Parts: sequence; C-alpha cells; structure tokens
Amino acid sequence: MLGLYQAVSVDIDQIHELTLIVREARQQIFADGVVTSTAQKKKIMEEFYGAEAPQEVEVQPPEVVSTKGSGSRLPSRVEKALKLKNKPMRQCKKCQEWGHHDSRNCDKFKEKEMMRSRRNADV
Ligand SMILES: [Zn+2]
Repeated sequence: MLGLYQAVSVDIDQIHELTLIVREARQQIFADGVVTSTAQKKKIMEEFYGAEAPQEVEVQPPEVVSTKGSGSRLPSRVEKALKLKNKPMRQCKKCQEWGHHDSRNCDKFKEKEMMRSRRNADV
C-alpha cells in the first residue's frame, strides 16, 4: 500500500516538474505573445530535448480508425417521435400549416414533385 503511494507521489512530482519545464519553454517560445523565428524555436527545442531537431520528419500520422460503437445505429420510431415532440413548431410558408416542416420540405410540395416525376416517367 505504501509502495503504491510512493510510486504515485513520485509520478505526480515528475508531472509537476514536467509541467514547469513545458511552461518555461512555452514562455520562451511565445515570449510577450510574439512567436519567435523558426531558427530561435529550433534552438529552444534543441536545448529542451538536448538533441538536434531532425531536418526531415519521417513519421506519418496514423490512419483514422474507429473502434468504438457501430456508428450507424438507426434511431427507433420512438426516438424519432420524441425528437419531433421536442422540436419547436414552425409555420410552413407553402401550406400555411403549423408543424415540423417548412417550405423546403413541405409534404404538399413533395407530393407535387412526386406527381411530376411520375408523369415524366409515363412519357
Ligand atoms: Zn407545408
């Protein structure tokens, strides 16, 4: 139990120290809110890491992988109805009806579109 506590306390000390170092480096890099030149930044980085900054970065960002959830769960009918209920009513400028649609997706407008496309299909 004591060993675990010691391990944790050391980690916290290290994190605290690291935070101080990072803060100091940040203050050097962004002194007075002005970003110093690339050469200066490189010098600070070299001092910070104790190594020369690489001329070329060969590490490429990894491909995006999603491992959690199916990501494509369709909302149930109950969920859809609840969502509609919570939405504020708005008046449709096309049919002057109060509901959950507007002139852009008016039911009557849709019907007209459907009839037109059906007529076109017949010709
Ligand atoms: Zn409408």
